[in-house]
Amino acid sequence: MSILFASSEIFPYAKSGGLADVAHSLPQALRAFETVYTVMPLYDIVNRKKHNIVFSGVSFWYTLSGIRHQFDVFYKEDCKEDLFIYNPILCGRTGLYNDRYGEFGDNGLRFGLFSYAIIELVDKMHLAIDVFHLNDWQTALVALLAKTKYFLPQKVVLTIHNLAYQGIFDKALMHELELDWANCFKFNGIEYFDSVNFLKAGINYSDTITTVSSSYAYEIQTPMFGCGLDETLRVNSYKLSGILNGISNEVFDPKSDEFVHKNFDAQTLKNKKANKKALLKELNMQDESRALFVFISRLTSQKGVDLLLESLTLLKDFEANFIILGHGEDYYNDRFAAFKNRFNNVHIEIGYDESFSRKLYSSADFLLMPSTFEPCGLNQMIAMRYGAMPIVSKTGGLKDSVLDFTDISTLEESNGVGITFEEHNLFWFLHAIGKAFSLYSHSSKFQKYIQHNMAIDFSWKHSAQMYLNLYKA
Ligand code: ADP
Repeated sequence: MSILFASSEIFPYAKSGGLADVAHSLPQALRAFETVYTVMPLYDIVNRKKHNIVFSGVSFWYTLSGIRHQFDVFYKEDCKEDLFIYNPILCGRTGLYNDRYGEFGDNGLRFGLFSYAIIELVDKMHLAIDVFHLNDWQTALVALLAKTKYFLPQKVVLTIHNLAYQGIFDKALMHELELDWANCFKFNGIEYFDSVNFLKAGINYSDTITTVSSSYAYEIQTPMFGCGLDETLRVNSYKLSGILNGISNEVFDPKSDEFVHKNFDAQTLKNKKANKKALLKELNMQDESRALFVFISRLTSQKGVDLLLESLTLLKDFEANFIILGHGEDYYNDRFAAFKNRFNNVHIEIGYDESFSRKLYSSADFLLMPSTFEPCGLNQMIAMRYGAMPIVSKTGGLKDSVLDFTDISTLEESNGVGITFEEHNLFWFLHAIGKAFSLYSHSSKFQKYIQHNMAIDFSWKHSAQMYLNLYKA
């Protein structure tokens, strides 16, 4: 069996969030069993030299509304299954989806072109594909094209990594992308309040839909979490299931992570303590005997940043250290920036920094993750692997991967142990942090949970098998 895994971002070439991590590690895990091609846009920001990305010799053209678009196919020289598409409209930007002025106004056209390119690529590169595996709205249009324009025999799987991002554009795009008005611009097609919605099209035209945790698969069928697509998802629930994401054991390994000051494992936790000491010193923060809480995230309301902002003026009085690393919407960047250097025990870093994030995971005692909703979440798994206990709101994938230590009678092999809170408000958030203090003061009990978490297998082993079963079915 042969699968074409299409994503708008793949680690380490381009990453804005967890999608890139998944698009790297899931195909990697599947390759042990099947042939898996990956394809992503070759954005100008991708470092071709560093990653050995070379021209494949194949170019093709596609005319839409009288405009001839050129696509060049590249691959990684030492792994020719890693494919890249270059087209100037799609790739000639300083960001993936936006720059400092906001979202690109032509994202609909850009990812519409990418969707055509994905289908054309199969023919032009003579790939014997059985399954298209699409990810999020940026590639979801492939399902509509495959079923209503190209009438392809292949099966189409769509994974929803985050329902909040749907790719909604003016209906003029129907002409620009030469989509079939009569057949597709309807409620159970691509139409959404008189606009086009790429993700909705993907949901309606794919053969199977997955999302990234069982709880999220259930939640998105409710008006509260459905982001306006709950009815569409209920109608399509017969083909919807949840498969929990994994993380790459190679990329996220405290024993060998090149960004970590002192590598460690569950038996050498003293090195983790040394990391904390070094980090606090580097940031001019006091007292390594205090608990260290970190927050690493995109700054957007989904991640519970309003709650974190609200709590900052209280956290400053806690006998603990807090480090926040994040970047996202201008409003939140500015609000957090306003708190920079204000409190001795709260360090704020606005930016996206992979190496600093690893330093934080490898030094922290606790990871804060107060998301309002969370399809799966990777931070909590990475944190557990690096011996930091997650403090999470009880939603989506967080609910499926972290159990509150007070709810556990026996430690099960696959259960992550952390602190959970159900009601999303300041009282329960601070209550959860209070529980962390009490646990931290019982150091042997705390260490037992940390060691337990570090031994859990968060790799793709189980979940990749579930995807394989799905493809086969
Ligand atoms: P998302 O909704 O952003 O995809 P996930 O939990 O699925 O959230 O994945 C987030 C990934 O991005 C993790 O690997 C996390 O460590 C990383 N990350 C998020 N924000 C930052 C940042 N500011 N700097 C470095 N890494 C970050």
